[in-house]
Amino acid sequence: MSDVDFYAARMDRAVRSAAQEGLAGLIIMPGPDLVWLCGYVPVVTERLTALVLSPGRRPQLLVPQLERPDAEKAPAAGSLAINGWVDGENPYAALAKLLEPQGRYGVSDNAWALHLLALQRTCPGLGWGALTEAMPMLRAVKDAQEIEALAAAGAAADATYEAITELPFAGRREHEVAADLARLLREHGHSQVDFTIVGSGPNGANPHHEAGERVIEDGDMVVLDFGGLKDGYGSDTTRTVHVGEPTAEERKVHDLVREAQQAAFEAVRPGVACQEIDRVARQVIRRAGYGEYFIHRTGHGIGVTTHEPPYMVEGEHLPLVPGMCFSIEPGIYLPGRFGVRIEDIVVCTDSGARRLNNTERELRIVR
Ligand code: ZN
Ligand code: ZN
Ligand code: ZN
Repeated sequence: MSDVDFYAARMDRAVRSAAQEGLAGLIIMPGPDLVWLCGYVPVVTERLTALVLSPGRRPQLLVPQLERPDAEKAPAAGSLAINGWVDGENPYAALAKLLEPQGRYGVSDNAWALHLLALQRTCPGLGWGALTEAMPMLRAVKDAQEIEALAAAGAAADATYEAITELPFAGRREHEVAADLARLLREHGHSQVDFTIVGSGPNGANPHHEAGERVIEDGDMVVLDFGGLKDGYGSDTTRTVHVGEPTAEERKVHDLVREAQQAAFEAVRPGVACQEIDRVARQVIRRAGYGEYFIHRTGHGIGVTTHEPPYMVEGEHLPLVPGMCFSIEPGIYLPGRFGVRIEDIVVCTDSGARRLNNTERELRIVR
């Protein structure tokens, strides 16, 4: 299938599910939805760019006239009607001309408020909804090609882990190790690095700690959580390593997180609600008395971004479907002491979960 046909099929599928949801159409502004639907990655500025998908009509792409040459090079350009607006013209009036006078539109989640508020003023007769609320399944279920791209990104992250644990930790600052992680991800084919968390000792107890000035010491637990995009698809994996010999308690906490991660992995099958994956992981940790130290949801979807729906969290009733790709990443965070998190990306298949990260989950000793 050519690029044009490939993206045309995606846009067609999107507009058909929009119609099923009772939407008049979709308005997609720059970001992951635009990339996924038509392969176009414009520079994101205050100048309005929008793709309009409506049932029974050719996809319409509105772009600043000066960016038209870029838009014409988009992979899906052959199946798009490209409309330019020039500086001084009202771009929202130009966009309104591509919309129905009435009905409700699904708008991509990362449309800027600047644009959407102006559009709402221009089109008072229209209704609006967030795309992932109206159509949570649109990007959540990956096709075989997407799964292989995610597997390749996962393998590159795994190779990064193997390489980083060969290097010394003790005596180096967290941000030096983080810089090595970023370099290794790029060496293994990533074009974009989204995060390189190095949480050593007490810093590991803060799941949002990125990497700082702290010098890693012998005896530290170190949380390593890193990922980005390779060939347009995301990686995201976490392993917790120990510098030198761990204490019995450090081993116990690490074993517990590993057990929780495994239990959640084994709970994955089609039809199971997302919240069930969270419950299974949480129950293992709660039963061992560490429930209050597992302070975040168990997982999130991944695709053309490193964090997206579906979320493995209490209250998410969405059932798992073969092709959904998401993280399973339970953790235990002991304030002022250390943290442990273990994270793999998995894909739901007909017979259960398949891991896209395959480095060992046992506690690895580094120097
Ligand atoms: Zn220790
Ligand atoms: Zn992560
Ligand atoms: Zn994650």
